[in-house]
Parts: sequence; C-alpha cells; structure tokens
Amino acid sequence: MTTTNDALLRTDSNFTPLEAAGRDHLWMHFSRMAPFQSKPMRVIDHAEGMYLWDDRGQRILDGLAGLFVVQAGHGRHELAEAAAEQAKKLAYFPVWGHANRPVIELAERLATYAPGSLNRVFFTSGGGEAVESAWKVAKQYFKLTGKPQKHKVISRMAAYHGTTQGALAITGLPAMKQAFEPLTPGGFRVPNTDFYRATDEWNGDERAFGLWAANRIEEAILFEGADTVAAVVLEPVQNSGGCYTPPPGYFARVREICDKYDVLLVSDEVICAFGRHGTMFACENFGYEPDIITCAKGMSSGYGPIGAMIANERVMEPFLHGTDFFPHGYTFGGHPVSAAVSLANLDLFEREGLNQRVLDNEGAFGATLSKLLDLDIVGDVRGDGYFWAIELVKDKGSKTTFDAAERELLIKQFLPGALMENGLYCRPDDRANPVIQLAPPLIAGQAEFDEMEQILRATLLEAARLV
Ligand code: PLP
Repeated sequence: MTTTNDALLRTDSNFTPLEAAGRDHLWMHFSRMAPFQSKPMRVIDHAEGMYLWDDRGQRILDGLAGLFVVQAGHGRHELAEAAAEQAKKLAYFPVWGHANRPVIELAERLATYAPGSLNRVFFTSGGGEAVESAWKVAKQYFKLTGKPQKHKVISRMAAYHGTTQGALAITGLPAMKQAFEPLTPGGFRVPNTDFYRATDEWNGDERAFGLWAANRIEEAILFEGADTVAAVVLEPVQNSGGCYTPPPGYFARVREICDKYDVLLVSDEVICAFGRHGTMFACENFGYEPDIITCAKGMSSGYGPIGAMIANERVMEPFLHGTDFFPHGYTFGGHPVSAAVSLANLDLFEREGLNQRVLDNEGAFGATLSKLLDLDIVGDVRGDGYFWAIELVKDKGSKTTFDAAERELLIKQFLPGALMENGLYCRPDDRANPVIQLAPPLIAGQAEFDEMEQILRATLLEAARLV
C-alpha cells in the first residue's frame, strides 16, 4: 500500500512530544516519510467494535478491519484475556522439534476447517512468510519426488503476495519490485480476472472470459515447460486491482490445468480466509480444492501475529520418511500466545456465527455500496462477502481512467485524508486502476454500511470537483 501522507497530515504544524518522537524515530511501512518531517502524523489511540479513535479524540469508522485483519472487531476482551493467560503459562517456545498445546490444537482446528486432505499446518508470523514457505516447499517437494527442475511459479498481473524476495517475485506489481531487482528468479505472470474492463470484448459472457483467463495459465506452463513449473499462486478474490472475483468456471479450469501438468495450486487466502467471504477458507465459496492454502491476518483477528501454510497429504508425504525434512522456519512461527489467541478468535467466530453473518449481509453490503453508482466518478462496484471495491473513472461511458497527475491528486493527495477527516478509514489504491476498497470487521451491519456509503458519497462528490 502506498500511503498518501500528504493527505494524512494534520492541518496544524504543532507537534505533540509523541508526534515529534514519531517524526524522529518511526519509519512507517509503504509510506512517504518526507511529509511527516514538517506536519504531524495521525496517532491512533484506541478502538472499540467498529470504531477507531485518534489521540486528539476524532472517531473514525474502520472500513478496512485495520488491514483486512480485525474480523471480530476491536476491543474484544476475551481475546486480550486469552493472550494474557497464555503469556502467563508459556509465553514462548519454538516449534523446532518441540510442540506446545495451543499450536497443536490450532493446527488440528485449521485442518478441520480446510478442505480435502489439507491437514498439515506450517505456522509463520504472517502472510508473506506463508507465501514464501509455499514456494519453498513446492520446490523441495518436486526435488524429493523426482522432478527437480520444477521450480517456477505462475501468478496474476497486479496481484500482491508479500514483500520478501520470493513472495515479491510472485507479486505482479512492477512498481513494487523495481527498487529490489533482481529478485528470486522464476516468477511468471498471467492476466487477472478484471471483468469490468473485459466485459465489452466478451459481450458480457463472464464464463467465456473466465475460461480464456484460466487458459492463459496453461499457455504460460507450456511456454515455460511443464517440467519447470512448480506452482500456480492465486487469491480466491484478487485484492490488488480491486476485488477481482473469479468468473464462473475459472477455478475448475485452473484445477484441471494444474492436475494435467502436475503443478501445485496454491490458494493465497491471506485476505480471503477467516470469514471475509463467509467461510473459514474461501476456496470453499468458489468450489475448488487447492494443494496448499496460505493464510494469516484474520486467523487471530489481529490480536496476535500469526500465519500458516497449510499443505495437503500429498505435499507432506515425502517428508514423512527417512531423514528428509523442510529446512525452513521462523523464530516466531507458531507463537504460543498468537496460537492461543487464534483459538479464542475461532471460538468467537463459532459462538457469534460470524461466517453466517457475512453470508446473510453480503448482499445488503453490496447493494448499499452500489447506490454510489449514481455518481459520475464511480464506474464499478464489485466484490464478494465483506470485501468490496469501488472503481473510480474519469468518464463512465468509455470507462476512461485517470492519468498519473489526476491519480496523484485523487488517490495520493486528497482521498485518504479527506475520508479520514470525514470519519471513514478505508483504502484508496491505484496499484492498477484507481479504486477504494472496503473490508470492514465482520460484525458490521446495515448501520455501518449506510455510514460508509454516506461518507463515501460526500467525499467522492468533493473529489469529483477536483478532477
Ligand atoms: N498475500 C496476500 C494475498 C496479501 O494480501 C498479503 C498482505 O496483504 C500478503 C500475502 C502478505 O502478508 P503479510 O503482510 O502478513 O506478510
């Protein structure tokens, strides 16, 4: 995410001591730092339910669940207490040759939720490490099973899969990679499923478009040589670019292609798992069974950092004999406190029926956001579950998008700050075409959908006057 600091700055230039310390010492992620040298940053102080408060007392609706993370909502004391109890009992011990109760129980629980034979859980500290682990295990799996050349990965244009050098090589965003090239070799890209822009060419036939898009994966495998391709890495709904949903038939065809060429299918569910689409794992919503799932974020609702690479029995099998093992791991992978918090979070999911809540309300959420289509600047509203994007356009009829200067003004300079000032935290983004993304905590209901729509409407009307 390119945070748009110009717009996030305070209007006054007086720093509190905390803001001055932030200016002098805090290096923010994905953020331009220069503007913070002259104007204070916003300090988020506390949060409760659907709302954040900054340290100057402004209340802000959290329309992004932090960063697609806080599924259960903010301020859940039962999760804080689960963390405290585990920290008092066993705060830390690595899963390097020893286990502890919460990691075993969480591994078993995730295996129960995951489809088919995805029973083997390798814990990480977050999503990028899970993707990195998936690529590494795919390479080693093929080395151990007599296909040592299989090492390449195919993913989609504009998709984001993390920042470590392997995960970044899977990421399909050139601007995010250029500063760090050369990256891990072996990453190849195919088209994504942006049907808003493809619909005219395909006469509105989404299934035909989906088959075409899936067949590009087969083409890439053949171009590269099937004996060199280890994995295809796809999100169920692609985040970057703005919630590209899979066309009907897309994943069935992808699964067929992966089986035909002996390529592992990795479902990167770092955003999509844990209720974002009303199920524990979103591959279930879209009717496919991957070989590996990568997940993180919502597993603990953010009350502890944790991620996982969940592999099926086939991938695990060569590691169950003799002396071969996966020489890979992280000090904080499977942290007992994060595991205990995740278990409490999943209990809360069951107790409060959060998945069903998403299934019951996703239509209302989409319908409420779709009211914005009456604005000239809104070209498309798309998504699934509690994961939606609003694509902004310069001309709705021709779907003409904004040029670089207009994007800088809209997405970098104006919208993030204006939305926050108007009381909504969400994500204006232009890694592909300009979009605003919404992914609220799963406790959101009609009142919050309406509040989001109203703030977006007022802010987009202002935005439209600028460009
Ligand atoms: N994969 C996907 C699909 C993601 O959306 C993200 C982060 O947003 C990642 C991987 C990287 O996760 P993390 O930031 O936890 O390393």
